[in-house]
Amino acid sequence: MTLPVETTSAQGSPWLVGETATTAPAMGSLTADVLVVGAGITGVTVALLLAQAGLDVMVCEAEYVAAGTSGLNTAKVSALQSTIYSALAARHGIGRAGEYAAASQAGVDLVVELAAAHAPEAGLRRRTAATVATTPDQVDAVRSEIEAARAAGLPVYASAALDTPVPVHAGVCLDDQASVHPVRYVRGLMEAAIAAGARLHEHSRVLDVTHRSPHIVRTGSAEITARHVVVAGHYPLLDRGGYFARLEAQRSYCVAARLRGDEPDVLAVSTLSSETCAPGATCVTTRVRCIAGPLRTR
Ligand SMILES: Cc1cc2nc3c(=O)[nH]c(=O)nc-3n(C[C@H](O)[C@H](O)[C@H](O)COP(=O)(O)OP(=O)(O)OC[C@H]3O[C@@H](n4cnc5c(N)ncnc54)[C@H](O)[C@@H]3O)c2cc1C
Repeated sequence: MTLPVETTSAQGSPWLVGETATTAPAMGSLTADVLVVGAGITGVTVALLLAQAGLDVMVCEAEYVAAGTSGLNTAKVSALQSTIYSALAARHGIGRAGEYAAASQAGVDLVVELAAAHAPEAGLRRRTAATVATTPDQVDAVRSEIEAARAAGLPVYASAALDTPVPVHAGVCLDDQASVHPVRYVRGLMEAAIAAGARLHEHSRVLDVTHRSPHIVRTGSAEITARHVVVAGHYPLLDRGGYFARLEAQRSYCVAARLRGDEPDVLAVSTLSSETCAPGATCVTTRVRCIAGPLRTR
């Protein structure tokens, strides 16, 4: 078997092949209305929306755009995520699960809108998302997810007749979800933010942020004064609230291979998994059990 790209996430991902920094590090004494820490999907979306609203925005990224989790994920844009609704309903009640569903669907809609406006090269494609039972003992989990997701307000339906490369015993499906090339998407949004006036500095790791506004933000080579700071570094990089002590490292294993035949249409994830895999790849992992669709590299 020939893998499309031999890699580990420590070295990159198929989405990140050939990507590198394109802007200079922050240098000297600088100012901004808003300093965004991190150029993943979160920071770049915030930077775009704030720059479009007329604010003077600067983004400081430790490595390069989308180099973090946003460039290392499975490219699935969906309000249906494994068995999240059964878990939320059991833990927090159906009201909270409903809020999560509405927010997730709003997120899907925003990605679709922003991709059309700013990242057509990201190849966003509307697809059906599914959580599936790949063994008979997962069928009950799928049934519970159908009930919980419906009660949370999502128009899910049951189907086991899915276009997946592995047999499926049951499935909960949600139409009109999407797949997208995550790095091209984030880069497209970053370019749009820059066109709207935002400044980007890569290789600019934020080391410290003072408490009161105007905040003084320190990198290795700059001191930035900003009225507001958005920390979008994907982990609690500031020592506030003791969150660093609750952070737990996890590792996902994934094998991607080219499929024989056509790309399955469905974005499928099994109930056993808390993760998904690249649309377009068949993935077998210790945590990720079932994935569908061919992996697109550049
Ligand atoms: C294996 C896996 C598969 C996934 N699959 C999916 C999926 O299919 N669909 C989905 O919706 N989600 C998926 N996710 C989750 C999703 O990828 C993340 O929630 C999302 O990318 C997080 O984006 P972010 O911008 O918050 O963080 P990141 O993309 O990690 O961006 C944070 C950025 O901040 C930078 N940074 C960190 N510290 C500093 C600092 N001190 N100074 C400056 N910059 C800093 C980092 O370099 C990085 O670029 C998956 C996650 C994993 C791990």
